[in-house]
Amino acid sequence: MQIPFNSFSYTSKLLKAEMMQAFEQFFDSEYYILGKSVQEFEQKYAALTQANHCVGLANGLDALHIALKVLGIGSGDEVIVPSNTYIATVLAISYVGATPVFVEPNSKTYNLNPEKIEEKITPKTKAILPVHLYGQACEMEKIMALAEKHHLLVVEDNAQAHLATYKGKITGSFGDINGTSFYPTKNLGAFGDAGAITTNSEVLAQKARIFRNYGSEKRYYNEVIGTNSRLDENQAAFLNVKLNYLEAWTKEREKIAKFYDQNLLNLGDLVLPTTAQDCSHVYHLYVIKTKKRDELQTYLNQHGIGTLIHYPIPPHLQQAYRHLGYTKGAFPIAEDLAETCLSLPLYVGLQENQLHYITETIQHFFHA
Ligand SMILES: *Cc1c(COP(=O)(O)O)cnc(C)c1O
Repeated sequence: MQIPFNSFSYTSKLLKAEMMQAFEQFFDSEYYILGKSVQEFEQKYAALTQANHCVGLANGLDALHIALKVLGIGSGDEVIVPSNTYIATVLAISYVGATPVFVEPNSKTYNLNPEKIEEKITPKTKAILPVHLYGQACEMEKIMALAEKHHLLVVEDNAQAHLATYKGKITGSFGDINGTSFYPTKNLGAFGDAGAITTNSEVLAQKARIFRNYGSEKRYYNEVIGTNSRLDENQAAFLNVKLNYLEAWTKEREKIAKFYDQNLLNLGDLVLPTTAQDCSHVYHLYVIKTKKRDELQTYLNQHGIGTLIHYPIPPHLQQAYRHLGYTKGAFPIAEDLAETCLSLPLYVGLQENQLHYITETIQHFFHA
């Protein structure tokens, strides 16, 4: 049996007619930049995620970059960020000229550990940038309380956690201004690059709108040095269709994760994902851990099962960040995760017989 790590074949077939119709409407509208579809998406996405405003952007990296920019964070400032995040989170901090200050994750949930934040706060710290990694909400109450105590701003990276909740409140609605991505493989994915900012602040939303459009509100009048990072009208039209499926597809992801949870128990040193109290998990990724990670990945590959590693090198050990001066051992939890984690196939359309095959193959590996 061949099971790729990810596949769009089920969802694409299901949506084909609706997508063709959305494309035709877009095509016939003769309005290709910041038209009705972007506006509709921004309203719908804000409503669905309990945020007052949504600003559609070109991608998730731009969303985080612009979020930090409109908060006025820049050169000389420090931003607290988990040591085990995807590189885009850290790049956004670098883009505004600020310095990323890494904090280790909780060793069980892999999310930013609130207990370890305070020791990293300095007079230069301006913001905390929690990442709802793999689809699990961070412990936002503690993070928000720390931010308030130390007068820090909060920017959530919600790229992997559409519709995740902390104490029933949706991620991307806690921070001052938050970024998300609709990269095709994300839980809500476009057919190309796309991203957005969510915020409850009218002022920040307006600043982001201006920034994404060359720093201009009135055509040919430029208030700030902005950029071009508009959500593409065509992608917005597609996202408007997909948005209607997000809740059902999130449940589908949770069901697949539950199957893995129940069928991968007590296998060697295998560690399954842990969900913290009050935090929901929308399983953008189902990440397991074992010291035999490389052998297991090879074994699964030999049996036709695709897996990926999220992520093999933590940001502080990337060549791009060697100027920060970190060496191996600086962030042991992030480094251990990089060496032992493995993501299993998890996507809408993954069939029960495929899931049985995956879990049985993993069982065979550990019993051999
Ligand atoms: C995907 C992702 C991003 C970046 O999104 P793009 O749309 O690919 O630019 C940022 N942060 C995290 C955690 C992500 O997973």
